Amino acid sequence: MKNSIEVTNLKYRYHDGTEALRGVSFALAPGECVALLGPNGSGKSTLLLHLNGLLPEKHSANGAVRIHGEPVTTEKLAAIRRQVGLLFQDPDDQLFCPTVAEDVAFGPRQFGISENEIAARVQKTLAQVGLAGFDHRATHHLSHGEKRRVCLAGVLACEPAVLVLDEPTSDLDPRGRREFKALLREIPATKLIATHDLEMAVELCPRAIVLDHGQIVADGRTMQLLGDEALMLAHGLEKPHILWHHHPH
Ligand code: ADP
Repeated sequence: MKNSIEVTNLKYRYHDGTEALRGVSFALAPGECVALLGPNGSGKSTLLLHLNGLLPEKHSANGAVRIHGEPVTTEKLAAIRRQVGLLFQDPDDQLFCPTVAEDVAFGPRQFGISENEIAARVQKTLAQVGLAGFDHRATHHLSHGEKRRVCLAGVLACEPAVLVLDEPTSDLDPRGRREFKALLREIPATKLIATHDLEMAVELCPRAIVLDHGQIVADGRTMQLLGDEALMLAHGLEKPHILWHHHPH
């Protein structure tokens, strides 16, 4: 079976010369749920933006990023974005319609499906994220946590095979976190989750990739990596409390 995500020697430099990614390679098999860890500025967001072509390689469509075997190229963007749902770090970057229902409907409407089907997906995904009845609320008056859930509903409404999440729990309260994790567990998509929430990584992701200075410094079993204090300290992370009594073998 083809890998859901395949990244080969991906490099990216911003206009000001910052080398954000310096030769990143990894692959995710269908159905995997993988945590992307690393300190601030290590390149996590930059990597995620590449996965649905928001930061295409400038100089050549060289196939550094493939989704289900297909290279992410300018001509393929519409098809790629149908397969890869990206939840931005900041919900305000993602929401732009006046009401919740319009925002959730925006993605699936690009796919040429019927208005009935769109309405059904809006109802289903709002219920899934715990926002049933929010259809006509003004997005800009919602709380941060609610905005984030609207964003997730909008992504889920597109029914992506690959879900890419940038710091999804960073501003949720404990109950919000719990609900969010339960929700993610129910979604069968292949998932790559950039996060500082190491407990979530342990609970949801059997595998983790650690990025630092634009390079992968570790890729393996989450329990093993997070239990490795020297590795954690060297890359600005810390062994989570729930692993304090766990000794990796
Ligand atoms: P992370 O998500 O791990 O915090 P980022 O991908 O946001 O890391 O950033 C990686 C590097 O690229 C950092 O050095 C950051 O300062 C830089 N960077 C991010 N966005 C931009 C940008 N738009 N222009 C220039 N440099 C950027």
